This record gives sequence, structure tokens and C-alpha cells, in this order.
Amino acid sequence: MINYANEEVKFSGCPGCAYARYEFKLPCGLAFENNNFTLSQDWELPIVGFFVISPKKHISKLSELTKEERNEMFDIIDDTIKILRKNNVCEDFNVIFEEKENRHFHVWIMPRHKWMKEICGNIMNNIGEIFDYAKQNYRNEETYNKIEESTNILKLQLKK
Ligand SMILES: [Zn+2]
Repeated sequence: MINYANEEVKFSGCPGCAYARYEFKLPCGLAFENNNFTLSQDWELPIVGFFVISPKKHISKLSELTKEERNEMFDIIDDTIKILRKNNVCEDFNVIFEEKENRHFHVWIMPRHKWMKEICGNIMNNIGEIFDYAKQNYRNEETYNKIEESTNILKLQLKK
């Protein structure tokens, strides 16, 4: 995998589990973690304010979380969006649940930046196009610095 800072990352087995066990790190580190979840900039995509929350245990469906875990996860999502909005990282977000058979469940906290609408109109119908555009155009120092900045904001402001 090539990460958002254009470095190669190697891991074996399930990436979500490997990350929860600290078997590899991302350049900006964890924005937040507790006993049950990790929150980080999306590993691959150089899109400012694009965060991924993932349970530490290997599950593939939202319904495999307990009610308490689910509440905890939604509180982290809600706080993350509020902080990113307050700090002008982005105004609007889509929250997308990624459930795939036998894959590590995770949730995208995806910003809706103005440039996304400009390149493709309807963001949700053209996610692949947006991701390709970001990989081709935003793998640069300026974007990386903004990713680091937004990660640091969450590190400081998300309550443990
Ligand atoms: Zn896993």
C-alpha cells in the first residue's frame, strides 16, 4: 500500500488488526484511540479531513458491536466532525459504513470539499473519481502539512 504521504507501507494479514496492534504506523500517527477504537487520517488518500474510525477487534459488520461500543463510536464520530468543522477543516461530511464480507469493519468520516463538487458534481455517485483525482493531484507537501495539522487538532481536542 502507498500511504497519503507517498511512502510504501507493509503489513501482513488483516490491515485493521495489524494497525490496532501497532504493526505499522502512519506518518501523522493516531488522531485518537481508546480501548476499543482507533481514529486516523485515511491511510491512502491525501484528502484533508478524511478520517477513518475502526474497532480494534476484528468484526465485519456494524451489528457485531455491542450497544455500548456503538454509542462510544458514534460519540467519537460526532466529536470528530464538530472539531473539524469548528477548525474550518470542512463544513460538511458524509459518514459511510464499510461492511464487506470477512473484511475489517470501519467507518469513513468523509469531508465534502468544494473541489469535489467542482470536478464531478455528485460526490456520492463519483467517489472513485474523487479518490483517483486526490491521488493524482494532492500527493504533495502542502496537503500533507494540512493532514498533519488536522490530525494534531484532533489529538489535542478529542477527549480521552
Ligand atoms: Zn481485522
